Amino acid sequence: MFDELSQRFEDAVKNLRGQGTISETNVDGALKEVRRALLEADVSLPVVKDFVAEVRRKALGAEVVRGISPDQKFIQVVHEQLVDTMGGENAPLAAGGKPGAPSVVLMAGLQGAGKTTATAKLGLHLKDQGRKALLVGADVYRPAAIEQLKTLGGQIGVEVFSLGTEAKPEAIAAAGIEKAKAEGFDTVLVDTAGRLQIDQSMMEEMVRIREACSPDEVLLVVDSMIGQEAAELTRAFHEQVGITGAVLTKLDGDSRGGAALSIRKVSGAPIKFIGTGEKVEALQPFHPERMASRILG
Ligand code: GDP
Repeated sequence: MFDELSQRFEDAVKNLRGQGTISETNVDGALKEVRRALLEADVSLPVVKDFVAEVRRKALGAEVVRGISPDQKFIQVVHEQLVDTMGGENAPLAAGGKPGAPSVVLMAGLQGAGKTTATAKLGLHLKDQGRKALLVGADVYRPAAIEQLKTLGGQIGVEVFSLGTEAKPEAIAAAGIEKAKAEGFDTVLVDTAGRLQIDQSMMEEMVRIREACSPDEVLLVVDSMIGQEAAELTRAFHEQVGITGAVLTKLDGDSRGGAALSIRKVSGAPIKFIGTGEKVEALQPFHPERMASRILG
């Protein structure tokens, strides 16, 4: 892995090679390259600034031991800082803690981010683990979202509950949870309505749904292609609704995934899953190590 990174940073860390240590005078070129790589990967600017400052601090304080050269040490510091910033380990879905009650997962995000798809993907993921999920269609805003969820549910053999588009989303969510309790479902995945951009009525609706169903998880679904905007989006959802995790979608595209760094840094909430295609099977647990390599390119 370090070999791959070394390749990319070869020129930038050249001036560290042959030096006894990493110092104020020789670290700037390498830091500039880190900054460039992160901006190219669409990490938001304030997040990049903090990140580079932290790498600088750690690199200057780093002890360069025998057998590892300053340039390798620098790359190691960058890599570790990326992994740490993204949470280190994979964070699993919360199991829920109330005896006799299903675990409730609220899916949030903008229209088109991949919420409905991710809801079905998670339903299949849980089914594969032997769990029994109920998908709840509370997206009464986007035409055909509920039909889409029903179609996907049919494909994966996971039941879908809805009350049509006339009912209030919070009432649909609450009724779905009652059904799940009565019929022994262990998890309820609630698909909610997004909007094309951050919108006050969407946030208020999310808060009403959250209050109606006390979720164990609020997962923000983010399209990785929105790049730098992921920071503002995450901030808005986190401040107004409160998120416990995220799903980063469309990583099968050519985005470098910098949104992952911004989401975690802005909210402190871990990215739990990534979407890697349109198919219902295309969901994977998020691994900070792998994303670090992708972000650095
Ligand atoms: P929603 O409005 O947030 O519910 O978004 P949808 O679930 O309807 O997804 C919007 C579009 O993105 C659909 O065409 C999906 O097939 C597509 N999509 C969702 N997730 C992924 C993904 O991980 N990769 C790709 N390539 N497409 C995705």
